[in-house]
Amino acid sequence: TYEQDLIGARQFIEQHDDFLVVAHVQPDGDAVSSTLAVGWLLSRLGKTFTMINEGPIPQRMTYMEGSEQILDMSLTERTRTYGNVICVDCADFKRVGLVSEWMEEGSNMLNIDHHPTNDEYGTQTLIKADAAATAEILYDLVKLFDLGWDRNIAEMLYTGILTDTGGFRYSSTSPKVMRIASHLLELGVNGPDLADSLLEQLTKPQFDVLTLSLATLQMSENGKVAWVHVTPEHMVQAGASNEDLEGIVNYPRNIQGVEVGVLFKVINENAVKASMRSAGKVDVAAIAAEFGGGGHVRAAGCRLEGTLEQVTALVIERIKQSL
Ligand code: 5GP
Ligand code: MN
Ligand code: MN
Repeated sequence: TYEQDLIGARQFIEQHDDFLVVAHVQPDGDAVSSTLAVGWLLSRLGKTFTMINEGPIPQRMTYMEGSEQILDMSLTERTRTYGNVICVDCADFKRVGLVSEWMEEGSNMLNIDHHPTNDEYGTQTLIKADAAATAEILYDLVKLFDLGWDRNIAEMLYTGILTDTGGFRYSSTSPKVMRIASHLLELGVNGPDLADSLLEQLTKPQFDVLTLSLATLQMSENGKVAWVHVTPEHMVQAGASNEDLEGIVNYPRNIQGVEVGVLFKVINENAVKASMRSAGKVDVAAIAAEFGGGGHVRAAGCRLEGTLEQVTALVIERIKQSL
């Protein structure tokens, strides 16, 4: 049961030391928050640890305590490897990206996640597929350790839940989520400020890449599938980076009558990342999983080989079959 897995996770942490803490590549709010929340817990327990990600932490998330301690692997020379690993918000082991090079073969690995497509990698798992965020699971774990709370951990957990529920709007926003949020607000989190900076504000490059991508909109004849794309040329023109693409896929999905919205991001001449969002009837996690990716029923992604035209045709055809 989930309660047993929480106790198992506590034992894993108590019985080991010298951890590597990692979340998925191109980290979102939940990934960063969960990394920091595990770090907060390990600090409180007097454990040593290194937090790392394959790439940089988005600038807009650097208000969280300890965010500057998360190593950007692409800028860090590796001098050692780790035998005790905690992976957060990663549906499968591949999602840690190149950080796997920092791990020893046969590492002890705790897998904490909320993706229904999680393949239960690792030596210890703490997976709750109906949790709104990995941060929700970490709230339960912090509570179990009974070390007390402070505003910093509250801010981390609130951030993960806020971003993964789209501002407490997605169907994962359970009564329990609202009770947790209520507690975190009591601990001093500034909810409106975080909602503004994480969900409303756009940088100018973000605005510009949004504008360019929206102009590429295409729709299926029946109006149930809508998609946009972003090319490397768009990225250069807007001065945008990958983190600036978050949220774009919601626009095609939000058109009335659309069941599935897709963003195709051209990575290079022969690779495209597809981000899918469903209004609820189509399980996009299942479709993404068929293409080697994964995610949630209403939000999933995958990376495919091929040109934009080839990948678009393949994915749109597959989505149409599900309607
Ligand atoms: P996004 O479309 O915003 O990149 O991701 C939406 C959801 O799908 C997230 O929960 C994310 O973890 C998952 N996801 C996106 N890309 C991949 C992928 O390549 N592999 C897997 N397993 N999950 C993905
Ligand atoms: Mn995530
Ligand atoms: Mn998540």
